[in-house]
Amino acid sequence: MANGSTRPVIGVLALQGDFREHEVALAACDVPSIEVRTLAQLDAVDGLIIPGGESTTIARLLLAFELMDPLRERIRAGLPVWGTCAGAILLAKEVSDLDRSPIGVMDIRVERNAFGRQIDSFEADLKVAGVDGPPVHAVFIRAPVIRDAGPGVDVLATLADGRIVAARQGRLLATAFHPELTGDRRLHELFVAIVADAIRTEAA
Ligand code: GLN
Repeated sequence: MANGSTRPVIGVLALQGDFREHEVALAACDVPSIEVRTLAQLDAVDGLIIPGGESTTIARLLLAFELMDPLRERIRAGLPVWGTCAGAILLAKEVSDLDRSPIGVMDIRVERNAFGRQIDSFEADLKVAGVDGPPVHAVFIRAPVIRDAGPGVDVLATLADGRIVAARQGRLLATAFHPELTGDRRLHELFVAIVADAIRTEAA
């Protein structure tokens, strides 16, 4: 555990986008979070959320803050990461139409802005594998879709037309929608459980 306590510390990448909403959601789950903008902060977390925003901008800022390579290395070494929307785009190994390299750690191919422009944003109720109870009310804002998922990737949710909008590969979670905006904490709980599990595995 990065802070030596019994609870995981979750970082929220705070370069651009809706990182504050994730902090509020984590606080509602009673999980401490810190904003990550430096290498020292990255090294202090047990898991990281990459928020929604603009993936091109976040990619540029990761490079400008010299976080891109260290983050990629830490993810490859087992750091659990959840990317929502722009964050999911950045996790993908293959992305259409991104003018910088993504972090590129998850075996998914992502199409940016797959539903059109901001005005084509929408909401849908989704069954998400691993999330018990009623469907998750999912908010899509100029969202991507996951076009292909590799063999090691579990598809967690699809739209009615079959397009993939949530996936997991080991400790990596990608959602095309924004669970931090709805007050439903179940996906945050799922990520906290992934982080707690990773800590237990490393300690064993
Ligand atoms: N359209 C944005 C992008 O391509 C993602 C939108 C979002 O994160 N809500 O980066």
